[in-house]
Amino acid sequence: QPAPMKLLITGGAGFIGSNLVRMALADGHQVLNLDALTYAGNLASLSDVEAHPDYRFAQVDITDAAAVDHTIADYQPDAIMHLAAESHVDRSIDGPGQFIQTNVIGTFHLLQSSLKHYRSLEATAKDRFRFLHVSTDEVYGSLGEEGLFSETTPYDPHSPYSASKASSDHLARAWQDTYGLPVMVTNCSNNYGPYQFPEKLIPVVILKCLRGEPIPVYGKGENIRDWLYVEDHCRALLSVIEKGTPGETYNIGGNTEKRNIDLVHLICNLMDELAPRGESNELRATSDEKETDSPLATRHSQLISFVTDRPGHDARYAIDSSKIKRELGWEPSQGFESGLRKTVQWYLDNQSWWKNILSGDYQLNRLGRATSS
Ligand code: NAD
Repeated sequence: QPAPMKLLITGGAGFIGSNLVRMALADGHQVLNLDALTYAGNLASLSDVEAHPDYRFAQVDITDAAAVDHTIADYQPDAIMHLAAESHVDRSIDGPGQFIQTNVIGTFHLLQSSLKHYRSLEATAKDRFRFLHVSTDEVYGSLGEEGLFSETTPYDPHSPYSASKASSDHLARAWQDTYGLPVMVTNCSNNYGPYQFPEKLIPVVILKCLRGEPIPVYGKGENIRDWLYVEDHCRALLSVIEKGTPGETYNIGGNTEKRNIDLVHLICNLMDELAPRGESNELRATSDEKETDSPLATRHSQLISFVTDRPGHDARYAIDSSKIKRELGWEPSQGFESGLRKTVQWYLDNQSWWKNILSGDYQLNRLGRATSS
C-alpha cells in the first residue's frame, strides 16, 4: 500500500471528482477539495464523507489566481489532481467563453501556483510532488470504423469543449518541459456511474424513462463511444498519482464501445425490468399519459425520439489503454452490463439527489453555505 499523501483535488464536487475524493479518503489519503461549486458542483455528492477527519473543502474558483495561490500555499499538498473543468459539450457549443476561462485560463493559474509551490519544496518533497492533469479522449478527434487512440495520436479537437481541454493539456505538458513541474496527463473515455449530473446521456435517459418523456437521441444514434465505470477511472487516476512517471501521458479506456442507440436500448431494457412503466413510481403516477392493455405499449424504448444531430459530432472514440496496463498494472474491473445495472439502480435509489438538482434546490443550499461561511 503506497504511503498516504496530502492530495489537492480540484473539481471534487463534480461527478468524477466526488467519486475520486471518496476513494482517496478510503485509501487513507488526506484530501482538500478545491471547487468553485458551479452548476455542476454539488456538495451533496460528498455528504457521506464531509465529516471525515482527513477531508477539507475550499470554495475557490481556479480563474482566481490569488485565491488558488493562497489555498495551495496554505495546504502544502504532496500532489495535485486537476479535474475542475467545464465538461458538457452541448454547453460549450452554446457558450464557449466559460470553457476558455475555466479550462484554459483556470488551468494556467493552477499550473503557475503549483510551480510556485513546487519550487518552495525541500528536495525530498520535490521528488515526490506530482501534478496530474485529467483530460479526455475527445482531444484526439474522431475515428473511422477502425483504429484506436493511443498516447501518440495527434490532437484534432472539434468542439469548443475538446479544443479547450486540448489547450489545457498542451499547457500542462509545457509546464513540465519548460519549468520542470512534474506533470502527468491522462486522457480518458466516457465515464458513467453514480453522481453524474443529469444533463449527460445516461442519467438523461434514466430520468426521461421515469417521467415518461421523449428520450432525445442525436442523429440516428450511430455515434460510438467507449464507456468506463467511474470508479475504474478513479482507480486509474490514483495509480497514476502513486506510480506514474512525470512527463508521461496515460490513456484510460473501458474496452467497451457502444453505439449511442444501443446504449439507450440497454438502459430502456433495464428500466423495463427495474422500474416498469405504469407501476408505482411517483413521477409516472403524476403524468397524464394513457395506459393501454398491450405490454409492448409500456416499453421504455417507445420513448426514443431522434433529434437533429449535434454540430461537429465526432463519429467514434475508442482508446488503446495498453500502456497504463503494461506500466502501472491498471485495467478496468467493472463489467459494462453490471455497471450499467448498478448505475440505473443508483438513480432509482437516490431520487432526492437528482430531484434537488432538477428543482434547483441544490443551488439554494449552496448559496446558503457560501454566505454563512
Ligand atoms: P463535472 O462537470 O461533473 O464536474 C466539474 C467540477 O468542476 C464541478 O464540481 C464544478 O463545480 C467544478 N468547476 C467548474 N469550473 C470551476 C472553476 N472555474 N473553478 C473551480 N471549480 C470549477 O465534470 P466531470 O464529468 O466530473 O469531469 C471531471 C474532469 O474529468 C474534467 O476535467 C473532464 O474534462 C474530465 N473527463 C471527464 C469525462 C467524463 O466522461 N465525464 C471523461 C474524461 C475526462
